[in-house]
Amino acid sequence: MKTIIHLFFMILGVYISGLNAQNTGYVLVIHGGAGTITSERYLPAKQAEYNQALTDALGAGEEILAAGGSALDAVVAAIQLMEANPLFNSGKGAVFNAEGRNELDASIMDGKSGKAGAVAGVTTIKSPVEAARRVMDSSAHVLLAGRGAEDFALRQGLDIVDPSYFYTDESWQEYLNVKERMEREGRKGTVGAVALDKAGNLAAATSTGGMVFKKYGRIGDSPIIGAGTYADNKSCAVSCTGHGEYFIRNVVAYDVAARMLYLGESLKQASDYIVNNKLAAQNAAGGLIAVDKDGNIAMPFNTPGMFRGYVTEGKPIQVLMFR
Ligand code: ASP
Repeated sequence: MKTIIHLFFMILGVYISGLNAQNTGYVLVIHGGAGTITSERYLPAKQAEYNQALTDALGAGEEILAAGGSALDAVVAAIQLMEANPLFNSGKGAVFNAEGRNELDASIMDGKSGKAGAVAGVTTIKSPVEAARRVMDSSAHVLLAGRGAEDFALRQGLDIVDPSYFYTDESWQEYLNVKERMEREGRKGTVGAVALDKAGNLAAATSTGGMVFKKYGRIGDSPIIGAGTYADNKSCAVSCTGHGEYFIRNVVAYDVAARMLYLGESLKQASDYIVNNKLAAQNAAGGLIAVDKDGNIAMPFNTPGMFRGYVTEGKPIQVLMFR
């Protein structure tokens, strides 16, 4: 009898640990910025370019997740493709600040370990998101700025480029237009990615050139953990885009996770409330992408559009731009 009871508890134990060792399907969600993204402004040829770019970025991240790779590697891979693509406001093609220079910000967070890394105001690092990852993995710090971040990246063996690498005629023209009109219309989008891997780990990352015509030295929400980027295996992974000053003041990315944990809200309730009530009430334009520990996705925005897309295990890639 004793042996039977033993056997019963052993089988129960194996069953329960099987439940705990999560075997979730993977999820990857990306954004390419929120703003005045309408079909009048983005004609079919341009839409097709964005469609391709977002699909490629999702494909790069999915390849890693499908092979059993980590959410961290997936978000970096997706973002690096967008950083290299001048269609987005990150890496090559980033917007110019008021002095006509590109100053880039990026961050990353690992939902499993709670570790995070970020760089801000960098001008020579080809892939700011990769530098953020190195700060997380290979330094004792969370956020390195300016020259210190650039020296660190150089010592880490990352690709260092002349600041002219980030220049594109389109961004320069935008700078000249904005300089003339002093308005923020027409800005390109920041990029971000959040992922849930097969092992049930969450990760989030964001990379940006910041707000066009920003003041020299200005740092937005994107490299600030808790504001523009956050991940915690207990709740969700979040990457934001929009008017950074508001996202910092409202600690937006962390607020999504906190509302889930403390108020018991769903991912959708928490992120919809923050974007469409809290931020909208402050006239704070923007949006976010998020995935929770169960694989639920949210992509709310309070602007006319947001470049975004997602892929889940066994289903085709989805890309969206407008409302
Ligand atoms: N949030 C970014 C910043 O304020 C800009 C953006 O997402 O468009 O730097």
